Amino acid sequence: MAIAQEEIAQVRASTDLVALIGEQVALRKTGRRWSGLCPFHAEKTPSFSVNAEEGLYYCFGCRASGDAITFVRETQHVDFLDAVRQLAERAGIELHEDDADAGGWRDKAVLYDAVGKAVEWYHERLLTSPDAGRARDYLRSRGYDADTVRKFKLGWAPDEWDRLVGALHLKPEVATASGLGFVNKAGRLQDALRARVLFPIFDQGDRAVAIGGRILPTVDGAPPARDGRIEPKYKNTQETAIYQKRRTLYALNWAKDDVIKRNEIVVCEGYTDVIAMFRSGVPRAVATCGTALTEDHFRVMRNFAKRIVLAYDADTAGQSAAASVYQWERAHEVEVAVCKLPAGMDPAELQRSDPGALAAAVETAVPFLQFRLDAVVAAANLATPEGRSRAAERALGVIVEHPSDLVRDQYVMQVADRCGIDASLLRQDLARRAGRRDSAPSHRPAAAPHSETAGEGARPGLEALKLTVHDRRHAMPRLSPVLFPVELHRRAFLVLESATDHLAAVDEAEERGDDDVADLLRRLAVEEPVEAVDGADLVGAVVAQLLRLQTRRLLDERQASVRRGDLEPREVVDEIAVAKELVAKLDGPGARDAETELLDWLRAEEESHVAG
Ligand SMILES: [Zn+2]
Repeated sequence: MAIAQEEIAQVRASTDLVALIGEQVALRKTGRRWSGLCPFHAEKTPSFSVNAEEGLYYCFGCRASGDAITFVRETQHVDFLDAVRQLAERAGIELHEDDADAGGWRDKAVLYDAVGKAVEWYHERLLTSPDAGRARDYLRSRGYDADTVRKFKLGWAPDEWDRLVGALHLKPEVATASGLGFVNKAGRLQDALRARVLFPIFDQGDRAVAIGGRILPTVDGAPPARDGRIEPKYKNTQETAIYQKRRTLYALNWAKDDVIKRNEIVVCEGYTDVIAMFRSGVPRAVATCGTALTEDHFRVMRNFAKRIVLAYDADTAGQSAAASVYQWERAHEVEVAVCKLPAGMDPAELQRSDPGALAAAVETAVPFLQFRLDAVVAAANLATPEGRSRAAERALGVIVEHPSDLVRDQYVMQVADRCGIDASLLRQDLARRAGRRDSAPSHRPAAAPHSETAGEGARPGLEALKLTVHDRRHAMPRLSPVLFPVELHRRAFLVLESATDHLAAVDEAEERGDDDVADLLRRLAVEEPVEAVDGADLVGAVVAQLLRLQTRRLLDERQASVRRGDLEPREVVDEIAVAKELVAKLDGPGARDAETELLDWLRAEEESHVAG
């Protein structure tokens, strides 16, 4: 680093984030947080929040997030160092830059060169090295032939600490600035990627700028762990002067020609989905790199094509933040369509089971609103009058989100037709809803495009994390990783547990390359903490909810084992009775003891799994 870490920390701490952002955004104080219109996406109601104490911002609409340095980088399009310099000047801090090597590594050419060499080295490892055998087996099992591996320059990062930085003789400054390595707590230079199949990411000029890595599946299907920590399935090298996630689209370099020719671009969630598209004769697919679609991605895409086809699995597509999609459609004059994939399948899975079906799904993609409407109707029972009117109600709820009257009205007629209800009645209902929507309170978080908020236990899990962030002293001692049913929440908790404070946790998540956790932690920092009513034990209530849930899961598992004949009924009957009794006590005077006992039981259970 050309600027010492302490000085960067000092610059961050001395910057008043509310004042800095306030120069560009009208911020209003609501509770303990500040909010305003997001400078990163077009919106009419504020979804951009700032936490002054932690110095972090987060947008519920486009999920832009970061600290003072990120804000300057993103709004002024400067690199990390320039952002630090600007903020230092603003805060009156004198930086002691190490000029000796600053000239060398700041040069982007050095970074391109380093990442390019790393891509070649990792590619060669995959093709020839004996320790890459499992990776080759995995790719073969996915149907990848040699041509595919070569075209996408796939690689293998060996399961060792520093093979790459050693082999390429990378200087620590270059290794960190390129994202290929980092200096660990003991002061040793270490590879950023380890024991992963690699998908290099190139810019539109065909220069390697970053590398994404996928962990190999474990033999038993359990979440992969290292040193007791769950490893994220995908991990990318960090953002650098030559790589910004918000703008980068994986495979655009290979897809560009066909995108221009067809005036259409297909967006997938994962690198393997993109490769599946290419192999199915749709060589115009790209993917975002460990982040949801941003408006910057839209800006990049609209330069190449008028039609954007989302090829996400059905759940994720349904959860995409509708408000942003419609805004971007309008702002950038593009048309967004969605591929209809069979439920529970992503493009890679569909390509393996039925290659022709994937290309057909792209051909028959429907407009975003049509896709959401079809999902509502498909889930309804249209055989009864009650079912039809319920379906129409839900359909109107989807239609009302679209900003255009004309578009809304066409879909109203469609719903009238499909549900056999008079269109004028539906129009009246829609007008009422549209009136309510426009006068709704300003702060309405958009649906998160990831599945973190879906599924059982997601809400209490998030609530527990929020308490850990805002009331660490009370919450932390009573919580445990085993309480979190959602994997993302568990990872976030582990990071919070190992870090000394919230900012250190965000840094730690970034260092691990776990973007989803870093993103979640920044969001939690700006979310209003729950206020306890009449001194109620909030932590206890959330812990009890999670304990009930996890206990029920474990007991379900036990009963399943009995049904399969893996366990005798007499082996589990006492355990089940005790657990149920403890759960019942969670509401009573003995709640704290029951809490401790249940937690110990869940922990012991998990340990026995890890050991076995
Ligand atoms: Zn935003």
